[in-house]
Amino acid sequence: MALPSKSKFLKFLSHRTIPILFFVSALVTWPVLAEMELFEEFYKLSREYEDWDLDEFALLIVNLSVALFASVVFQGSKIRRISHQREAERRRAERNACHDPLTGLNNRRAFGDALGAISRQAKDGETRVMAVIDLDRFKPVNDLFGHAAGDATLVAVAQRLHDTMGGQSILARIGGDEFSVIFDTSCDPGVAERLVRKMLLALEEAIEFEDHHIFIGCSIGLVKWGCKNAPDEALRQADKALYAAKEKGKGQFAWYDAELDKKSQERAEIEADLRLAILNSEIQPWFQPIIQIGTNKLVGFEVLARWTHATRGSIPPDVFIEIAEDSGQISKLGYALLQKACVAARNWDAALNVSFNISPYQFHDPRLVHRIADILADSAFSANRLTIEVTESAIIHDFTAARDKLMALKDIGISVALDDFGTGYSSLASLRKLPFDRIKIDRSFVTDIAREPQNQRIVSGIMALANGLDLAVTAEGIETVDDLAFLQALDCPLGQGYLFDKALPAEQVAWFLDSKWSDLCVDPNLTEQSHATAPKQAL
Ligand code: C2E
Ligand code: CA
Ligand code: CA
Repeated sequence: MALPSKSKFLKFLSHRTIPILFFVSALVTWPVLAEMELFEEFYKLSREYEDWDLDEFALLIVNLSVALFASVVFQGSKIRRISHQREAERRRAERNACHDPLTGLNNRRAFGDALGAISRQAKDGETRVMAVIDLDRFKPVNDLFGHAAGDATLVAVAQRLHDTMGGQSILARIGGDEFSVIFDTSCDPGVAERLVRKMLLALEEAIEFEDHHIFIGCSIGLVKWGCKNAPDEALRQADKALYAAKEKGKGQFAWYDAELDKKSQERAEIEADLRLAILNSEIQPWFQPIIQIGTNKLVGFEVLARWTHATRGSIPPDVFIEIAEDSGQISKLGYALLQKACVAARNWDAALNVSFNISPYQFHDPRLVHRIADILADSAFSANRLTIEVTESAIIHDFTAARDKLMALKDIGISVALDDFGTGYSSLASLRKLPFDRIKIDRSFVTDIAREPQNQRIVSGIMALANGLDLAVTAEGIETVDDLAFLQALDCPLGQGYLFDKALPAEQVAWFLDSKWSDLCVDPNLTEQSHATAPKQAL
């Protein structure tokens, strides 16, 4: 509160008020003093009492008055100068608070204020197009050419964007290499799109800096903003569209898509819930029977992850496994599931094998073999009863490393199977260099095979090659007796699919092992390859 009154005081002084006050008071007092004939009286008095030296004293007073007057004039001009300086500083600070000092554009704060103002003044149903522009190749500019080049690039970008935009549009720099535009009311989506194409072209052209040609390019996200709606939400949507534009490949623009946004929001929520789900053991291993084709003997189970979410219900593993992979949670989830599966299956018939899926990400864990060995020891589950299933994508990048890892697993007694066979690109011959015990023919070739001549040819070819290479085969996705009969005719040894059963929770398996499958035998010669333990003849 002290500051404004001080500045008022300074303003008061700075308006030449002090000298004026002096003059005014002199003019006001002059007639009074003249009437009183003060000067004559003083003259008489000084003559009368010459020895008092009153004339010298009067001279001193006149001198002091002149000095005082000069000092007041000097101080007044000094105060005036200071107040001017302060005013200029205040204006500069105000400008800096709203503008990006490098490009001179509005900054994020000013842009937010402008959005707020538009929103407040908007008529019902008014819409505007908003764009978020992100430079595609800005980061290397600073590293390659130095910060001066980076600054010059941003200035040039700001200038080109400004030159491309329509009259009343508002342009701002809202981040390091991120800009935003609210197009003027006359820009309908069609016009805005044309301007955006121009911006893309303008920023594709090289920016000259010293001897360098800097190619920057940009991606643009667009959203139609209902101006009465929250501007922050519109900015978020424009960001989503920008992300979609980048995904399409750089140098593109994309409009906000509510459907896509809903999906990505859902995905983000699932990712967050997944962390808790892993911690709280909400994801459980279920077991799908694997059967010997021809005899219907049960030889083991494939472990399939199941998550029943408290509000979303059952979430398919295809969805959450991918999210776990992308968010780096797959190893944690994988090991937790393996531990649970081993504990659940350890007391089942010793001849029953358990097949466990290892994601490519988890497969690259350098401690994979140790971790699995620890889990087996911890849960007292025999390594000979475990098969690890990996897909081609886990091994394709480094055959040698993959071979070493598969060998290390086999060295401790674990079998290894190549999952989803037929969906990848490698030939069986090249995959043969890896020590797989078994291949699993992907269900896309198996389901409905009895009615699909092309799949019949593919599966027959795979069977012939596998037999030639001495590889065991499991067909997954058997749904009908006709499919089963066809596979039996091809001498496919093992199969799994809804025809036999879907995946079941561990308790149900334990219960079924005593009842439903009591008529199924476990044949020691036909179980998955590396069963060392002598199996029971009946379950
Ligand atoms: P996958 O390894 O190919 O697993 C077989 C999938 O086929 C399972 O789908 C199974 O339920 C389904 N299936 C089995 N029989 C039939 C059938 O007769 N018809 C049809 N249409 N489908 C059948 P699910 O459980 O949805 O799993 C999908 C994929 O998720 C799995 O494919 C696997 O890649 C992954 N997955 C599941 N559990 C785990 C896990 O614990 N760890 C890892 N890393 N991946 C897992
Ligand atoms: Ca599998
Ligand atoms: Ca599969």
